[in-house]
Amino acid sequence: MNDNAGPASQIPADSRQELQAEQSRLVARLGELHADDLAESQDDNFADGGQVAAEQDEIMTLATDLRTQLDDVQRALGKLDAGTYGLCEVCGEPIADDRLEALPAARFCMLHAAG
Ligand SMILES: [Zn+2]
Repeated sequence: MNDNAGPASQIPADSRQELQAEQSRLVARLGELHADDLAESQDDNFADGGQVAAEQDEIMTLATDLRTQLDDVQRALGKLDAGTYGLCEVCGEPIADDRLEALPAARFCMLHAAG
């Protein structure tokens, strides 16, 4: 959107950049995890299979966490496009600026994030 009209003009200009940077960072981290995972699977020199399984379990947990964050970031980018960015998904009230600054992909206001 290049016009100055509408609610989009109230959004800090760097929100999209921040989200896109975060998106790139998360995608890169997930890529690294996947690479590590494959490398370990192909390594037959590990005597202790249980330890490998535990490490892979840890990687899976981390990957799931990263995917959740990535999902939130992509959702926030979609909301930027839709013009609903910065609004709580539960009550529709604007999310506090300082909260969005700390957490650009925030989906809920303070009240509903706590629940
Ligand atoms: Zn709310």
